[in-house]
Amino acid sequence: MAVQPYDPENIFAKILRGEIPCTKVYEDDHVLAFNDIAPQAPTHILVIPKGAYTSYDDFALNASDAEIVAYTRAIGKIAKEAGVLEDGYRLIANTRDHGRQDVPHLHVHIIGGTKLGLMLP
Ligand code: ADP
Repeated sequence: MAVQPYDPENIFAKILRGEIPCTKVYEDDHVLAFNDIAPQAPTHILVIPKGAYTSYDDFALNASDAEIVAYTRAIGKIAKEAGVLEDGYRLIANTRDHGRQDVPHLHVHIIGGTKLGLMLP
């Protein structure tokens, strides 16, 4: 059971239902990835599971093995395809209030394409 109930009206649920557009970079049975609408770096991709998971912990504790394998593998494939493997990149999963999560559907940010600043609390 999730810490917070899943809100089916969140913006990424709407993207998954095709109710609002996105710039898709990857899709398979379990995963969708698209460019962030307000990129913080030359590469800024959001990777989301298609299942209704609010956060990384919700996903890790409740998703099927097939979903977890697909999601983990997709993040690697997308980073490789984006051309950021050699120089490096950052994965971020902001989680709930203290983690400054705005959209309550699990999303991993893949950010790269430039030397990033240091992370501050
Ligand atoms: P934060 O805004 O603090 O980074 P999140 O980790 O929840 O919080 O990130 C939500 C991300 O979703 C933001 O980077 C935002 O730019 C992005 N975003 C919001 N709406 C859309 C959209 N319609 N299409 C693509 N990205 C979006």
